[in-house]
Amino acid sequence: MENIEKYDVIVVGAGPAGSTAAFYIDSLKVLIIDKYDFPRHKACGGGLMSSKDWPLEFENYKRIKDELKSYSCKSIKMYWNKMFVSRCDFKHFFDQIDRYEFDNLLLREALKKDNIKFLKFELQTIYKEKSGNKYLYKLSDGQREITADYIIGADGMYSKVSRFLGNRLHKRHEFGYCMEREIICEKKDINVHVVAGYKWEIGYGWVFPTANGYQVGIGIIRKPRKDLNYYLDDFFAWSLKKGFIPKEHTAAKTFGGALPLKVVKNYCTDSVLLCGDAMGLVKLLTGEGIYYAMQSGKLAGQTISESQKDLKNRYKQKIKPVIWDTFLTPYVPPKIFTITFWSIFFHIGKIWNYFPVGNIFVKFFIKMAIHRKSSREGSYYRDEKIVIGK
Ligand SMILES: Cc1cc2nc3c(=O)[nH]c(=O)nc-3n(C[C@H](O)[C@H](O)[C@H](O)COP(=O)(O)OP(=O)(O)OC[C@H]3O[C@@H](n4cnc5c(N)ncnc54)[C@H](O)[C@@H]3O)c2cc1C
Repeated sequence: MENIEKYDVIVVGAGPAGSTAAFYIDSLKVLIIDKYDFPRHKACGGGLMSSKDWPLEFENYKRIKDELKSYSCKSIKMYWNKMFVSRCDFKHFFDQIDRYEFDNLLLREALKKDNIKFLKFELQTIYKEKSGNKYLYKLSDGQREITADYIIGADGMYSKVSRFLGNRLHKRHEFGYCMEREIICEKKDINVHVVAGYKWEIGYGWVFPTANGYQVGIGIIRKPRKDLNYYLDDFFAWSLKKGFIPKEHTAAKTFGGALPLKVVKNYCTDSVLLCGDAMGLVKLLTGEGIYYAMQSGKLAGQTISESQKDLKNRYKQKIKPVIWDTFLTPYVPPKIFTITFWSIFFHIGKIWNYFPVGNIFVKFFIKMAIHRKSSREGSYYRDEKIVIGK
């Protein structure tokens, strides 16, 4: 087995979680590994929620944002199983980006630091060896072996590092299946359309305007009753009929992916920290994961960088509010929570839409779902007036 140089920290996975974690580590020798060369494709809607405030939180995002191609979305139309509920207009809702470019820019930003290197390496197995009063980790791809004192597991939904910590794979009701189609065309409708409970499945369909046209997708919790292609084709046809997307378009690509909806049991030890999808950190209500991947990556990087003592307790302390932000109620099964929330939100929202007081209720939940922290210093959203209409 070929042996490669030893590192202080190995970050497994170069998605937003891994690149951000590495970016926040100073003065330690860091190796980021990924099974792909970059840039690489990643199945994702690419919606960066409340991203005008991200420069306040992520230094790496602040540095890439001017170079990043994005499309700003400002209004959303919401439906409950094809029935229109309400429309919301924002100062800014989210930016839609292409993960191929976004992840590459974040990795490039991390690699500008002298202490960080990248290696294309598909992790297969991890062993640990006692070395004095601590452990030394050996990571193998079957042919080569790399060693480090600490590991950050940012290797996504099917994380090998998470398995190493003893976590089982997510059960069916603990993750969402998604399928998306990108189309290239002239944009006419610039609203985001979100259709919850499509075909009485638990999840939602979406139409996002993108820089080149639109993205049409569907995400369902638990294994759907029919093949996901069926739901996507049906939703696509309905979106065409409703005029959300134009008839004249070129279909660029269709792809699928899964996202976790439950935080794993063991997400840290005194030498291994998980973040992003590897930890199961995705907002249950919306399926938003990029922000939480970067947030947890930043905290994991900072925790190791500040000191290597008592990592487990320090990381647990720091990550607790992020877990609450994604789950709100971590102890309720994802399916039950999502059904309850969306049905209350949409049905009461629809009725209350006709009364001014209903707007307060709808705005409160929308702000919670899209994690607007508009009261903080320097927030772009400080004077935002969310308008609820028909
Ligand atoms: C269809 C779909 C649509 C989505 N839409 C949105 C959206 O609009 N907005 C949003 O915020 N979130 C969205 N998400 C969720 C979001 O994509 C994820 O939460 C986010 O990518 C998590 O980032 P990460 O860095 O943790 O993992 P990833 O981005 O998955 O990165 C993990 C990296 O680890 C690497 N890796 C995996 N295994 C190994 C191994 N064995 N060895 C080495 N490297 C390995 C992979 O190659 C990958 O580069 C969507 C997800 C899906 C599936």
